[in-house]
Order: sequence, then structure tokens, then C-alpha cells
Amino acid sequence: MRRIFIVMSAAAVLITAGLFQAGPAMAETVNCGNCAGNGQVEEWKDCVKCGGTGNVSCIRCNGSGNERCGMCMGSGSMDVQCRECYGTGRVNDEICGSCDGRGKVTESCNECSGTGNKICGRCGGTGQETCTMCNGQGGKNWKVPCQECGGTGRVER
Ligand SMILES: [Zn+2]
Ligand SMILES: [Zn+2]
Ligand SMILES: [Zn+2]
Ligand SMILES: [Zn+2]
Ligand SMILES: [Zn+2]
Repeated sequence: MRRIFIVMSAAAVLITAGLFQAGPAMAETVNCGNCAGNGQVEEWKDCVKCGGTGNVSCIRCNGSGNERCGMCMGSGSMDVQCRECYGTGRVNDEICGSCDGRGKVTESCNECSGTGNKICGRCGGTGQETCTMCNGQGGKNWKVPCQECGGTGRVER
């Protein structure tokens, strides 16, 4: 009778210990699964300069893709020497009919085909250029404390 009592007591102790270990009071900590124990996770943040696009407006053309033609100063036309009178305004002692005696004629600008604008040499006409703050990535991963474990890297099992 006494012997059985001892065996039962030992069993009770074992069961109690087992329950105790599984219970919250003896919580074991393990590596946080969210951050793999680093305590930090990477969080993508959009670049503040380009808003996540990776591109910003070209600073030369302000996003238009065009720049003013330097040859005609944006007028689309330019004065060139009259070919009939070689700039003298006179042919055979008479007023040159080609230039009305001015010695020069106004021609459409070759450089810009008379538009006064050229494709922007900086951005190639796209109006956009790569954001220098994020190197065109649109943002970057920042290390932030893990929410799951409060930055400790350990959580209760
Ligand atoms: Zn964590
Ligand atoms: Zn002429
Ligand atoms: Zn021009
Ligand atoms: Zn440009
Ligand atoms: Zn950017």
C-alpha cells in the first residue's frame, strides 16, 4: 500500500513538472521568427526626393524634354549672309533682289528645324533623369526594430 503511494507521488511530480515547463511562468525564449533573431527587419521606404519613381524632372529642361536652341536663341530662325550678293546687298551695282539690299536673309534654323527647341541634351528628350538620392531605385531598405520582438531578437516560445 505504502509502495503504491510513493510511485503515485513520483508520477504526480513528473506530471506537475511537465505542466510547469509548458506553462507561461517558465517561458523559454527563442529566436524571433520575424527577424531571425536580429532584432531588426528591413523596411522599404520610398525615396523622399522622387517619391518612389526613381526618376526626377530633368534639371536642364525642367521635365519638358526640350531645351532652347542655342543656335537661334529659340527664335527658330537666323540671319545668314545672302548667297546672291555675298553679303554686300548689291549685285551688278543694283540692289540685290534676294535680300532687298540687306546683305543677309532670314532662314529657318537648321539646328532646330525652325522650332526654336532642341531635344534636351541632358535627358535625351525624356524630361526625366535618374534620381541621385536613390540611384534610380525609388527607395531603399532601412533597418527598423522588429515589431514582433521589440528589437530584442527573442520571443517567448
Ligand atoms: Zn523580431
Ligand atoms: Zn543679297
Ligand atoms: Zn534653332
Ligand atoms: Zn532634359
Ligand atoms: Zn529617388
